[in-house]
Amino acid sequence: MVARLVVLVAVLAVLSVVFGVLEWLWPSVRGQRRRRPGLGTDIAWWFWDPLVNKTISFIGVVAVVVPIALVLTAGMEGDTLKAKLEARETWLSAQPLWLQSLQLLVLFDVLGYWSHRAFHRVEMLWRYHAVHHSSRELDWLSAVRVHPVNELGTRVVQSVPVVVLGYDTSLVAAFVPLLAFYAIGLHANLRWNFGWFKYVIASPVFHRWHHTTELEGLDRNFAGMFPVLDVVFGTLYFPKDRQPLEFGILGDLVPDNLLRQIAYPWKARARA
Ligand SMILES: [Zn+2]
Repeated sequence: MVARLVVLVAVLAVLSVVFGVLEWLWPSVRGQRRRRPGLGTDIAWWFWDPLVNKTISFIGVVAVVVPIALVLTAGMEGDTLKAKLEARETWLSAQPLWLQSLQLLVLFDVLGYWSHRAFHRVEMLWRYHAVHHSSRELDWLSAVRVHPVNELGTRVVQSVPVVVLGYDTSLVAAFVPLLAFYAIGLHANLRWNFGWFKYVIASPVFHRWHHTTELEGLDRNFAGMFPVLDVVFGTLYFPKDRQPLEFGILGDLVPDNLLRQIAYPWKARARA
């Protein structure tokens, strides 16, 4: 636990310097304060997310995936469930790892796209996702403000098909930190849109439009990796020469501190 805390403090310090320099050199919103409102709350989320959210998601994913895995591997020889899962041959798991990796990234993003869209469109789910959208001055650290129910829902939706289809589960373990780091970059106050590759790979400008309160950007740009999904499903908003300036949520206000933000969806539901 202490070692994990030390690593988290060190990574936070390194990323503060790296993004501090990048956001100073190529800001999307010029003059945005470094000590912005909600900074202390997001620092608390920085620790909460890996220590609490990820633990809850892990337990939740195991609880859902284990019964499914037991059914899939019934009658197979093997000492552990993991060994049996790894021994299970499907035409997908027989492919080379690089091809599985590519397919997994696309599958993850398609599943992430639809669960993200559901978190926006279904009112009961939106209250959880609203916490993530509550940063009014968006930067790289805003990425970690994710309600545990939001995290759990997305991870379960992404894990079940991966296990059922028989993909190599060690690939998933390799991708999770990579995707988490990518998500941090997407929220950064950077004016990068990746030019010619803007529809191929998600950029900070693409995702910052998703967080805007400006009407044209509302319920747009749900993809986490591949903007082409928003093109295919009709939810892309990516103007050529504009960048969003206003962020947050319209209507009911999410409170400012971490514990109140965690309680917010349930309190909002009680009020409704
Ligand atoms: Zn969203």
